[in-house]
Amino acid sequence: MQVATTIPSARQAVEQARAEGRRIGLVPTMGALHAGHLALVEECRRLADYAAVSIFVNPAQFGPGEDYDRYPRVLEDDLRMCEAAGVDLVFKPSADEMYPRGVPDATFVEVPGLSHVFEGVIRPTHFRGVATVVLGLFEIVRPDVAVFGQKDYQQQALLRRMVEDLHVPVEIVVHPIVREPDGLAMSSRNIYLDPDQRRGSLALRRALEAAVAAVAAGESDADRVRQILRSPIESEGAAVLDYAEVVDALSLEKLGRIEPGRTAVALVAARFGKTRLIDNARLTE
Ligand code: AMP
Repeated sequence: MQVATTIPSARQAVEQARAEGRRIGLVPTMGALHAGHLALVEECRRLADYAAVSIFVNPAQFGPGEDYDRYPRVLEDDLRMCEAAGVDLVFKPSADEMYPRGVPDATFVEVPGLSHVFEGVIRPTHFRGVATVVLGLFEIVRPDVAVFGQKDYQQQALLRRMVEDLHVPVEIVVHPIVREPDGLAMSSRNIYLDPDQRRGSLALRRALEAAVAAVAAGESDADRVRQILRSPIESEGAAVLDYAEVVDALSLEKLGRIEPGRTAVALVAARFGKTRLIDNARLTE
């Protein structure tokens, strides 16, 4: 496994693999890797012959007062996990390498429609930071395929839109959510939860399961499904609900009815103390 910290060295490693005729895959991450990330790596190795993982805590996607400084950074563990998972290249740039002009003066990519709803209401500059860094990573690695998690549902919808709008020649693959045995979606931020919040966090999963069950039993009124989503989270003492929505799978438009021919997804977000957790589930195929 190669570890590159500069853009030229990452490019050189990938170009060599490409010259050997290998199909290039990329898994962008912020590190503090867990089994969810490793599932993406595994999928990447299935779909490509050369697996690159980027580890970059992207300052441009954190707002003021968010956890940029305290976000977990455990490079040695991450490298061990990547090596064991059969990764070919870890790209671990510094912030100066990715933003030579500094974040305030950087060129940004905006994906208007999908950036300022849901997560984007609470984090107004988050998605332009995500889109910008991912396009930069695509330019550096030029992957044939890039794997993202369904865990960050809005993120993958926005990145698909960006790639389509800017004609980026990469296939975006989305991997299902990997969960803890009790159902909490794995996240590098789960370590922030105290025992009470950790117990309370299961309300998200309960809410989604109840919504999936209601739709499977024939419920098609999206407002009733929203109520089903809200109630376990609102009755959980440790949680403050941010949103519980039923949306179109591609456009993220709020739905009135759940109907055949239009895939519906439930999105939830809640705060547990200072920690925000998000989760989602497909309601229809
Ligand atoms: P992050 O390091 O949190 O930026 O995540 C890097 C990638 O891993 C993103 O595409 C996430 O959606 C994905 N990811 C994070 N947690 C999970 C999970 N529990 N299951 C599936 N994918 C995940």
